Amino acid sequence: MHVVVIGAGAAGMMAAYAAASHRASVVLLEKNNKTGVKILMSGGTRCNLTHHTDARGIADAFGHAKRFLQPSLGGFPPQAVVDFFESAGVATKIESTGKVFPVSNRAVQVRDALHHYAVDAGVEIRTGCGVTGIRPDGQKWLVETEQSVIATDRVIVTTGGKSWPGCGTTGDAYAWMTELGHAIERTRPALVPLLGGEPWMKDLSGLAVDDSIVTVLPVSGKQKSLAHRRGSLLFTHFGFSGPVAMDVSGAITAATSVDQVHTIADLVPQYSEEEVKTALSNRQDGGKLKVSSLLSMWLPNRLANAITTQLGHDARLAELSKNSKNRLIQNLKRMQLPIRGTRGFEKAEVTAGGVRLDQVDPRTFESRIHKGLFIAGELLDVDGPIGGYNFQAAFSTGRAAGIAASS
Ligand SMILES: Cc1cc2nc3c(=O)[nH]c(=O)nc-3n(C[C@H](O)[C@H](O)[C@H](O)COP(=O)(O)OP(=O)(O)OC[C@H]3O[C@@H](n4cnc5c(N)ncnc54)[C@H](O)[C@@H]3O)c2cc1C
Repeated sequence: MHVVVIGAGAAGMMAAYAAASHRASVVLLEKNNKTGVKILMSGGTRCNLTHHTDARGIADAFGHAKRFLQPSLGGFPPQAVVDFFESAGVATKIESTGKVFPVSNRAVQVRDALHHYAVDAGVEIRTGCGVTGIRPDGQKWLVETEQSVIATDRVIVTTGGKSWPGCGTTGDAYAWMTELGHAIERTRPALVPLLGGEPWMKDLSGLAVDDSIVTVLPVSGKQKSLAHRRGSLLFTHFGFSGPVAMDVSGAITAATSVDQVHTIADLVPQYSEEEVKTALSNRQDGGKLKVSSLLSMWLPNRLANAITTQLGHDARLAELSKNSKNRLIQNLKRMQLPIRGTRGFEKAEVTAGGVRLDQVDPRTFESRIHKGLFIAGELLDVDGPIGGYNFQAAFSTGRAAGIAASS
C-alpha cells in the first residue's frame, strides 16, 4: 500500500510511523523546512506530551468529541504514549498538575523521537514541500505539491488547525475538505488569552492568582455555566491569561458574540461565601483589622491593595458598611472580568471546530464520503483543555489513521 501523509506534526508523524511499521510505503510531506515545529515550541519548549490519566480521563475532557475519540484513545492511551517515548529514550515525569513532560524539559527530544521512529520505519520525509490540493483519481489519489503531483493509494491529511499560523498551520486543508464534500464546523480560536479587564486591573499586569475559579455564563436565559475551571489566573497588560483564562476561552469564542456571555472569577475558592462574610464581620480584635490586611492573608498583596482601593478607603472591619461588605464579597467570590475579545488565531494554542466528526469513522479515521481519504489530528472538530490533552488526541488519532490506511 502506498500512503501519503500531509503535515509532519504530532498526528502526521505518528500516522506515518504507524503506517510504515505496518508495511506501507509512506511519504510524509511537510511545508516547513523541518518536522514538528509546533512540538518544538509547545509547553514553553518543554512539550507537555500527555496527561497523567487514562483513556477515559482524556476523552471526558473533550466535550462533544468524547465518544468520537474513545476508540482511538482506547487503542493508544496516555500510558502507551509514555511507553512509546520512553522506549525511544525520552524519560518522562509527571508534574503536580498531572501534566507529563520529558524529564529533560526539552521538546526537541519528543520531536526527534517521532522523527527517528518514522525514518527508521522507512518513511520518506520531504520537508519544504507544501501541498496545494488533493483529488481522487479513480482508485488513486493525486496529491499536488508546489513541486509535483504524487499519485498514491491512500492519503492521510494531518495539516492541523489554523492557530499560530507562523508554524505552518494556515488552515489550508479546510478548503480541500470542503471541496471534497466535508462540512467544516465553524473554526475559532481556543486556549487563547483574553482581551479585556477594568482600567484598574492594568496595574496588576504580571500578577498570578494561583488558585481561582473562572466561570463563563450566558448573559440571558438559564444561568448554567458554559465553562468552569479552577487553577491559575494571570492578569496581563491586555487582559487575562494563564491556564484558567485559556481553558475557558473556547466557551467565549463559541458564543455568537462576546456580549452574549459574561465571565466571573472566584479569587478565594478555598472559602465559601459564608466564610468570607464571617471573616469580614470578625470582631476578635474589636474589628481593628484593616480590610487590606485581611485580604493580604488570602491574596497577593498587589491584588489585595487593588481590591481595597476599589472600596474608596482602607477601612477597619468594624467600620465596614453593609454595602462595602457586599462589594468586597462580590469582588472576591464573583469578580466581573469584562472580556472584549481574544488574541485570536495568532496566539491560540488550538483551533476549535474543523472537519465534522460524523463524516469520519472514529476507528479508522477514513472519510465516510471518500474511500482512501483519512483525516486525523487537530484538523478534525476536536479541541481539549490545557494539560497534554491535545497532543494525546493527535497521537491517538494519527496512529489509528496510520494503521488503518496501511491495510
Ligand atoms: C504555542 C503552543 C503550545 C502548545 N503546547 C501544547 C502542549 O504543551 N501540550 C499539548 O497537548 N498541546 C499543545 N499545543 C497544541 C498542540 O500543539 C496541537 O494540538 C497539536 O500540535 C496538533 O497536532 P496536529 O498534528 O494535528 O497538527 P500540527 O502539530 O499543527 O501539525 C500540522 C503540520 O501540518 C503542516 N502543514 C499545514 N499545511 C500544510 C500543507 N499545505 N502542506 C504541507 N504541510 C502542511 C504544518 O506545517 C504542521 O507542521 C500547543 C500549541 C501551541 C500553538
